[in-house]
Amino acid sequence: MKIALHFKILISLALAFSIGLFVNFETSELKQKPSWFFYFLEACQFVGTLFLNALKMVVIPLIITSIICGVAKIGAESNFKKLGLKTFGFYGLSGILAVTVGLLCVNIFEPGIVNPEIREKMLSSYNAFDQEKLGSAMQRADGGWANLIEIFHRMVPTNLFKAAVEGQLLGLIFFSLLFGFFVSRLPDKLKISQTTFWESLNAVILSLTNFIISFAPYGIFGLVTPTLMTVGLDTLWVMGGFALTVLTGLFIHCLIILPVMLRFLGGINPIYHLKAMAPAMLTAFSTASSSATLPLTMKCVTQRVGVSRKVGSFTLPLGATMNMDGTALFECVVVVFLAQLFGIEMSWAIQFSVVVMALLTSIGVAGIPSASLVAIIVILQAVGFPEETIGIGVGIVYVVDRFLDMTRTAVNVFGDSCAAAVIGKSEGEKEYYPEVLDEGIIT
Ligand code: ASP
Repeated sequence: MKIALHFKILISLALAFSIGLFVNFETSELKQKPSWFFYFLEACQFVGTLFLNALKMVVIPLIITSIICGVAKIGAESNFKKLGLKTFGFYGLSGILAVTVGLLCVNIFEPGIVNPEIREKMLSSYNAFDQEKLGSAMQRADGGWANLIEIFHRMVPTNLFKAAVEGQLLGLIFFSLLFGFFVSRLPDKLKISQTTFWESLNAVILSLTNFIISFAPYGIFGLVTPTLMTVGLDTLWVMGGFALTVLTGLFIHCLIILPVMLRFLGGINPIYHLKAMAPAMLTAFSTASSSATLPLTMKCVTQRVGVSRKVGSFTLPLGATMNMDGTALFECVVVVFLAQLFGIEMSWAIQFSVVVMALLTSIGVAGIPSASLVAIIVILQAVGFPEETIGIGVGIVYVVDRFLDMTRTAVNVFGDSCAAAVIGKSEGEKEYYPEVLDEGIIT
């Protein structure tokens, strides 16, 4: 019997949750962990890292070849500009809705207004944080607004190869968009040789991507189990109010706002869409990286949803780096939460500037784990948090960041897929979910 990929991934996640949490509970009592704990941890990490490396290995060639092929095809069409405008319009709208949901949740639940005992516990949970990591994040963020502008400078890289080596996807995307556009303007004879070359390269990368994706169930088990084995369950409890506020906001955005947009802007069935995107969302949850998930997002959107490669290869790489609804929502909640915790006055005007900065920084934030912490430092500096509270605040949030990062990354990926589907529909694409229509199931 052939089991569908998303079921295999679900089974692997269920196993990872049961084993990871069980081991965590069992060994948390022991001061010194038994040696089998470390062997098992390392074995899982070995498998997980191999899978993550393989995904990252194909991201750069996949982005370059997909964008060039996609734009070379549509660049010459008159509606190219319209497609770009629609894409950024959707990203803007869904981003604004996401931060609004975040702001409402944090103002209603007020997770930072806690009794002194819990506040003490929260502040002491900060000691569990890796000081070195905080130091380097603070250094990277130093300079507030200047740093924000630097993020946008990187969009136009001086050295393409350096950008690729450093994983600066925004620069590569910008170059590939221009390259594809000028391929589309070549005289026919030259255009044919260029498009044949890039399309065949793209086909090879896609086959390679499919091959890597077939290992997802093992890779995901290897990634998630060690996280759950080592996550600090007690700190999670202390930070419960904050974590729940973020999760509530993310669920509202993912299960209400985006489905409503799908239904009303694209006439798309949100349940089918969620089902079709399940493998990509589960991978985003496991890797906490929208960039590393991009190969799966592209596969799900084009093969399971049925959006054309033309639209998918234009919108998805852009979305993976620029459209981060979950991240923007998270950034807003964190800033207001910390203000509540430290008793810093946050007028609606300041909250509005937080919204603008959250939207801007979520464009520049890389699609990698914990990337938004640097953006949060930038925002805290810009709205005038005292220096000492910034260090402590980020330290507190970092303690529970991993689990929230996994969830917001899944929302980021879902947002990208909704944009691709709605824009595809607006470009006149016909039936989505061919498997549903043909066989009554999504395989
Ligand atoms: N991990 C997120 C992503 O890859 C970015 C972040 O919010 O830290 O989409």
